[in-house]
Amino acid sequence: MKNLVLLGPPGAGKGTIAKRLAAEHGYLHLSTGDILRDEVTRGTELGRKAKAYMDAGELVPDELILAMVKEHVAGKDGILFDGFPRTLAQARGLEEIAPIQLVLFLELDRDTVVRRLSGRRVCPQCGALYNLVTQPPKEDERCDHCGAGLIQRDDDRPEVIARRFEVYMKDSAPLVDYYQGKGILVRLDAARPPEEVYAAALRAIRDDRP
Ligand SMILES: [Zn+2]
Repeated sequence: MKNLVLLGPPGAGKGTIAKRLAAEHGYLHLSTGDILRDEVTRGTELGRKAKAYMDAGELVPDELILAMVKEHVAGKDGILFDGFPRTLAQARGLEEIAPIQLVLFLELDRDTVVRRLSGRRVCPQCGALYNLVTQPPKEDERCDHCGAGLIQRDDDRPEVIARRFEVYMKDSAPLVDYYQGKGILVRLDAARPPEEVYAAALRAIRDDRP
């Protein structure tokens, strides 16, 4: 099985595609967030080192992230990296650990990202999540479970989402160039319905190009 990387801005549907590829095709879905939490929770040496950086409000260094990833992927294939690599150094380091055969870049324009994500609402009482566009509550802006009035988190305000989008695109541009240069980047139009994006992802995975 191929090792894959999923790239794309928040709201492009990376999580949905990753979960389906894992459930239906046996890919090992790895996000560095999960790996980091796992190492910290288990109190491994790497986890303790990483925690020291996080407690100090600093970014966990690339070498440490790579060491953790290495531990989780040793001897495996069919790995689906989600939210990783984030930097060129990580991408180059990853070559030594788990060579990537295909990178799926979920493309979505800024306005669509803002429209999708600014519809998010959360129940302040029970924490239930909604999206006014894709997953609305039964009653207007009230929680289905406890009836509380739904609120919008500061993180989900349009101007914050727009800024996050710009940061993502700027940070990921070198990665897109890097993988494009290797000839393994496939662009998918993430504005299409999720079912179609998933089908396009599967076609890209099955297409055995050199
Ligand atoms: Zn509620």
